[in-house]
Amino acid sequence: MKALQYREIGAAPEVVTVPDPEPGPGQVLLKVTAAGACHSDIAVMSWPAEGFPYALPLTLGHEGVGTVAALGAGVTGVAEGDAVAVYGPWGCGTCLNCAAGKENYCLRATELGIHPPGLGAPGSMAEYVLVDDPRHLAPLNGLDPVAAAPLTDAGLTPYHAIKPSLPKLVPGATAVVIGVGGLGHIAVQILRALTTARVIALDVNEDKLTLARTVGAHDTVLSDERAATKVRDLTDGRGAQAVFDFVGAQPTVETAGAVASVEADITIVGIGGGSLAVGFGLLPFEASVTAPYWGSRSEFHEVLELARAGAISVHTETYTLDEAPLAYERLHDGQINGRAVIVPNN
Ligand code: NAD
Ligand code: ZN
Ligand code: ZN
Repeated sequence: MKALQYREIGAAPEVVTVPDPEPGPGQVLLKVTAAGACHSDIAVMSWPAEGFPYALPLTLGHEGVGTVAALGAGVTGVAEGDAVAVYGPWGCGTCLNCAAGKENYCLRATELGIHPPGLGAPGSMAEYVLVDDPRHLAPLNGLDPVAAAPLTDAGLTPYHAIKPSLPKLVPGATAVVIGVGGLGHIAVQILRALTTARVIALDVNEDKLTLARTVGAHDTVLSDERAATKVRDLTDGRGAQAVFDFVGAQPTVETAGAVASVEADITIVGIGGGSLAVGFGLLPFEASVTAPYWGSRSEFHEVLELARAGAISVHTETYTLDEAPLAYERLHDGQINGRAVIVPNN
């Protein structure tokens, strides 16, 4: 089969032919219908050889949707032909956190060498992908595969980030979204669907600010050194009760801190390497800062339901597998509006 692989540190990913995978006991083979391209892959492909966490070559794609093509021995609960989405942050399935559905925070994944597909295990940017266990699958139940693929990460990650802050997003409150790309444009919609808060979106790119308004942001602000002052003005000086940073670079985490209100939640989702100092007097009183990772299995099902209810819709650009390197180039250059989705079997 054809697969998009990151093969050599620092090189661009390449479409290559690899052996067709076969499901072992307990595994499910999917024929991939759609696979989203996440900015985290750009980060992975920028890391140096020293300390690189995955074996190469690595088949990319941690946002996957497919049709069940074959079942390994002993698999029950799914049948050939089922259209399914893949929960990516695989865990051991049995530790305390996995038992609560929080496989994204599995206590034993590192020790057992368990990796998400596309981030260690072979991913979905291929004609076929192996899924280690049917519990990682949710039925699409009518969702369009291309629109559903980004929900598995670009939808799930903001959903998980926003949910703990819902009690603070009461009527009259403000939420700030920094970075309106794949994750951010879904975050705006989740905030609009689940809260009555005013949503202010920040980006460096006018097209992204237009997308933010299209998907429901009340206000948009160019993300520069004056952004925090503008957000403070828009909120009568109070600031935002919840700030979600989908960039995570030094200037954006500083903006996140500067727009926060007292008792605000500041959630840094982007992996841009910035850090925000926490200490008495450094941030508004009782502000909390957190940096979450992906989401839980139950939240995965919830975010798919949110899409089925029509409350969120992903803006997508589709690419064939042969065009996948171009999709990553465009993502790297900030030219993707919404999410680039690879359709490997077209
Ligand atoms: P993306 O490229 O689709 O979107 C990033 C957006 O940020 C773009 O619209 C870009 O114009 C904007 N941006 C860049 N610099 C900015 C600045 N200084 N101020 C405001 N906006 C700026 O990326 P994505 O796939 O949505 O991923 C967003 C981030 O989240 C990445 O860092 C990614 O690695 C990370 N991520 C984290 C998790 C997690 O679990 N924590 C999961 C998925 C992705
Ligand atoms: Zn991702
Ligand atoms: Zn576990």
